[in-house]
Amino acid sequence: MDIKLMKRLSEADGVSSQEDGIAKIMVEEFKKRGLKIEVDNFGNVIAYKSISKNPLVLGAHMDEIGLMVKHIDSKGFVRFMKIGGIDDRTLVNQQVLIRTKKGLITGVIGSRPPHIMKPEERKTTIDYQSLFIDVGASNEKEALKMGIEVGDTVTFSTEFKELGKKMMTGKALDNRLGCYVLLQLAKELPKNVILIGTSQEEVSTFGKGAKIASYKLDPRTFIAVDTAVAGDHPELKPHDAPVYLGKGPCIVLVEAGARGNVAEKKLVKKILDIAKKTKVPVQLEVIDGGATDAASVHNMKGGIPCIGICIPTRYIHSTVGVASSEDVELDIKLLKKVITSL
Ligand SMILES: [Zn+2]
Repeated sequence: MDIKLMKRLSEADGVSSQEDGIAKIMVEEFKKRGLKIEVDNFGNVIAYKSISKNPLVLGAHMDEIGLMVKHIDSKGFVRFMKIGGIDDRTLVNQQVLIRTKKGLITGVIGSRPPHIMKPEERKTTIDYQSLFIDVGASNEKEALKMGIEVGDTVTFSTEFKELGKKMMTGKALDNRLGCYVLLQLAKELPKNVILIGTSQEEVSTFGKGAKIASYKLDPRTFIAVDTAVAGDHPELKPHDAPVYLGKGPCIVLVEAGARGNVAEKKLVKKILDIAKKTKVPVQLEVIDGGATDAASVHNMKGGIPCIGICIPTRYIHSTVGVASSEDVELDIKLLKKVITSL
């Protein structure tokens, strides 16, 4: 696995609706691999060798969960709102980066220290509305001078690292892993197959960008390349999330308790046959909560066969996701065959 590229993707900023940072890398890397690029009005990065009618489309969302500046107080402390599904408990005392017109500004999320907490307060979850970002400014004027403005996006300042022999940890593995997979497929892309780095997946029940791009492209089949909640750690029971690291990509049969995409049976069979032929182990998954971009595409234009093919990831939607490079390689191996067969 190209760890250097994966690190770059994981550390890039791209909070939903402000994906320019990651989009720039995707455009650059797709171009290096000889593909034509279009960036649509919604910020989707669309890459292909050639398009004719009804292409096969693979989408990986580029956006990540994060924060947005809501208010700067007279003492220079920054209040924020959350963008995407964030557990408030993961926010306390994190280092963050505010993306301003003058560049990235470091901040830390402050909170009341345990010394002055009441005993009952220590047992409760801290609400994000009682947290703030300390940017080291003495007052509002200084914070404004640093370039911070209402509406600036904030990402977590987590360094991507290798973990053990085959694993990795970092922020935004959901879904920079998917972006990484698209960039590997881009090297030998058949005609009439389109790769999309989609925008704003994390901020709607079902992805926004994928729907907009697919409406125009009119795919014959859409594959969401994403991540899945892995249940292989001591605090999850096997039935909570029965997919595991190192056991191959997850084939998503049903999303969001069937409110999202329900994969077309013929398409599932084709994917499973290809997996068998290419000797790629896969894990079948039905998701109760959560969905992929497939959820927004399947019910368009008379119905488009869709499926999610996802890389199992621990501690998803936190700053310390963990995934296995073996699963990434298996995902690429499977999808290479899929794009030449479907
Ligand atoms: Zn995702």
